[in-house]
Amino acid sequence: MGYSMAQSSPYDFDIYQPRNPKASAYYKCVENHFEELEQAWDDMYKSRYGYWRTYVMTVIFKYLDCGDLHFGFARVRCEECGHEYLLAFSCKRRQFCPSCHQKRVVEYSEWLLTNVLKDVPHRQWVFSIPKRLRIYFLYDRKLLAKLSICGWKVLSAYLKSAVPYDGAVPGASIAVQTYGDFQNFNPHLHAIVSDGCFIDDDSFRMAPAFMLEDLEEAFQYEVLKMLKKEGKINDAVIENMLSWHHTGFHVYIGDRIYPDDKAGLGNLANYIIRACFSQERMIYIPAEESTDGIAKVVYTSKDRKSRKVFNALDWLAQLVTHIPNRYEQTVRYYGFYSNKSRGLRKKANADDNIPAIIPNELSSKEFRQNWARLIQKVYEFDPLICPKCQGPMRIISFIEEIEIIEIILRHLGLWDIHNHDPPQPDPVYISELIYDDSDSQVPAFDYWS
Ligand SMILES: [Zn+2]
Ligand SMILES: [Zn+2]
Repeated sequence: MGYSMAQSSPYDFDIYQPRNPKASAYYKCVENHFEELEQAWDDMYKSRYGYWRTYVMTVIFKYLDCGDLHFGFARVRCEECGHEYLLAFSCKRRQFCPSCHQKRVVEYSEWLLTNVLKDVPHRQWVFSIPKRLRIYFLYDRKLLAKLSICGWKVLSAYLKSAVPYDGAVPGASIAVQTYGDFQNFNPHLHAIVSDGCFIDDDSFRMAPAFMLEDLEEAFQYEVLKMLKKEGKINDAVIENMLSWHHTGFHVYIGDRIYPDDKAGLGNLANYIIRACFSQERMIYIPAEESTDGIAKVVYTSKDRKSRKVFNALDWLAQLVTHIPNRYEQTVRYYGFYSNKSRGLRKKANADDNIPAIIPNELSSKEFRQNWARLIQKVYEFDPLICPKCQGPMRIISFIEEIEIIEIILRHLGLWDIHNHDPPQPDPVYISELIYDDSDSQVPAFDYWS
């Protein structure tokens, strides 16, 4: 680590500029209102969204600094021609930072297809709960994990009964989503589920058709039981809910997806952990451009058929409810696809008896090193291929000391572009290569097993 002043041409750097995060409407919206949001929270939002979480502020600050060279970078050099560039660190926060979230999405779907899903048919399952129960999950995020288990219990019980063999078990990856189309708090589950059960390490049986009503009833039973056990609701509430003609519990099961439809499965994987909003469908109107002097966000629905206008502060307040806590898992693996089952099969050298959707020829370590390829998918450039000679590039050092950062940025004329300033015409940004999986959706142990 460190930086040698003795080098012959120490400042011959390029800076990659695939995009300018600070020019986005979303960035400006966050930058203009995050302080006000924290100040106004107790008066305006606490009753609706619960206590202010200090972690939210950490995420906001990290996002505002994401890709900013002032906070450190890696030096990347071409092994062939010596060409060098700087790669800024990124924030790696889920949901709130659109580009870092997008990396997680790409990482997850690639991981799922090469390491988890077997070469058998799958389906998407969606589980949703009544409006009146949502609030419990907002105030107590630990319940989201329990909701995921309720979904697993229902689908595994169903598939096991449909494939009645000893030891038969389905495989599933279940993602918790907390958001509806307009960033409202709407906790529900999206799952990618094997369409049948694995009998043992070598064989799989498909499930027959589904009885949706039975599944909805089973899901309702599991969720109400769980909330009662957690002390959130009592028998009177349950009885009242069950007396309604339609209780508001839903189970949706999508069409069968065959394993040769890799694009379909990949899209589904992307979809189930998608970000809670899309920058493309959001318009920000700052206070000075707004007719009533109050900043607004105009958001268009997914199908582009409806639009909603929010006060920008209200929109942000709603948005931060979707930031998972640090280390809060939002994706889980169950049954044949659980970390434990995969680990046991790997140990017994039996994990390839049924091949993966995309045959995985990489070791865990290589997968980790393959990170650059993921970045390429997101940014359409490969940070480890030299733009001048196409030679291989490599990180030669991480620059983290503020004095050295200053020396280099001053030389490049970038030091005075302060953080949180209005967007600069000459943007500075690169994604990161430093792999911090503390916030990842991919189980850590696989990397090292
Ligand atoms: Zn080169
Ligand atoms: Zn980021």
